[in-house]
Amino acid sequence: MDFSFSEKDEQFRMKVRDFFENEYPREIVEKMASGASPAKADYQTSERAMAAKGWLAVNWPKADGGTGWTANEKYIFDEELERAGALNVVPMGLLYVGPVIYTFGTDEQKKRFLPGILDSTTFWAQGYSEPGSGSDLASLQASAQRDGDDYIVNGTKIWTSLGQHADWIFCLLRTSHEEKKQEGISFLLIDMKTPGITVHPIITIDGKHALNSVVFENVRVPAENRIGEEGKGWHYANYLLGHERTSYAHVAGKRKQLADIRSVAQARALLADPAFAAKLGTLETRLDALEITVLRTLSSVAEGGAPGNESSILKIIATELAQDITELGMEAYGLYALPTFPDAVAPGWTHNTALPAGAAPSVARYLGARAQSIYGGSNEIQKNIIAKRILGL
Ligand SMILES: Cc1cc2nc3c(=O)[nH]c(=O)nc-3n(C[C@H](O)[C@H](O)[C@H](O)COP(=O)(O)OP(=O)(O)OC[C@H]3O[C@@H](n4cnc5c(N)ncnc54)[C@H](O)[C@@H]3O)c2cc1C
Repeated sequence: MDFSFSEKDEQFRMKVRDFFENEYPREIVEKMASGASPAKADYQTSERAMAAKGWLAVNWPKADGGTGWTANEKYIFDEELERAGALNVVPMGLLYVGPVIYTFGTDEQKKRFLPGILDSTTFWAQGYSEPGSGSDLASLQASAQRDGDDYIVNGTKIWTSLGQHADWIFCLLRTSHEEKKQEGISFLLIDMKTPGITVHPIITIDGKHALNSVVFENVRVPAENRIGEEGKGWHYANYLLGHERTSYAHVAGKRKQLADIRSVAQARALLADPAFAAKLGTLETRLDALEITVLRTLSSVAEGGAPGNESSILKIIATELAQDITELGMEAYGLYALPTFPDAVAPGWTHNTALPAGAAPSVARYLGARAQSIYGGSNEIQKNIIAKRILGL
């Protein structure tokens, strides 16, 4: 296996770095560094800057409006995006529903829905989880009952990320009760302006409003908004999961966080403390190990393989590392980290410049990172996958 990038890849990296340093909107980078939550307009400004360059749908095939990049190029792009402190794309449209539509949608559906994702005018949310169905998603109960040319949708979706901004939501809904619970589920695209939909905010422990519950009461959805066959939604929903879980690595973002911790620790004379220095060194080594694991996966993709169940290993080590880095981050800032939740303060508030830069968001980052081992399939579920499918237990 060869983990090094080719000269062509390195030239590509320089082109991408130049874009993020010179063309990408500075105000977004500054807002991200402050720890404040991006507004809907910030996501759109960021994505439109990438779209103008033709670099938004990095995972899509060229024929559907994507870049057609190699696995290495995609990896380099993500690395440079995080290195620059830019805003990650909203995954719901570009990474989740877009590929489902171009893979399983009709030509009509592709024409209708893909352009809004490609120019970042349609904001999507993901309606899978329900109050009683998370890890055991196939037990979901929200229903879509056929009524002429429409479905009538009833039920509650929960933990809907950025649902407060969404123009459309893609949902898994029960259209019939079969013996096997994975059957009888259909995949519907729903306009959030349809009467009968209510979005309720959920404020999380980090002071942020990113999550919601979405209640559907007799919501009329045209049957032409169903992807693929009725009752086969589970198949479409699961199609891309293996690929998605490799996207949790965020190696460059973690490297940036560790570099910040090292410089704060230096300024606060913490590196003289052997216990602190050992913790930092261990995290840096774990990050190197994560990077090699990602490159190993990329190398197997380049050799014609696909990221399969190994992506569960990546998900676990990447998210545990993210949690440990944010914990050491809080320790590095010490008491400076205590009081500040960037989203919970009055409008117009600015950092106290006496604080080390980065102190303000460090508690919120620490608390927010707890969720990483829950979403995208909890880490316990990933361990079950490893036990069953990799170890054959
Ligand atoms: C920040 C955040 C954003 C999210 N965004 C979205 C979104 O946009 N759209 C959406 O649809 N969902 C979203 N989710 C929901 C997420 O997918 C679920 O939270 C997740 O699947 C876990 O389900 P649950 O919360 O119902 O927990 P449960 O499934 O009830 O699990 C509770 C605990 O039991 C453990 N557990 C459960 N089953 C097993 C088992 N078989 N073996 C071992 N341990 C087990 C779990 O690991 C967990 O620790 C989001 C969640 C979070 C935290």
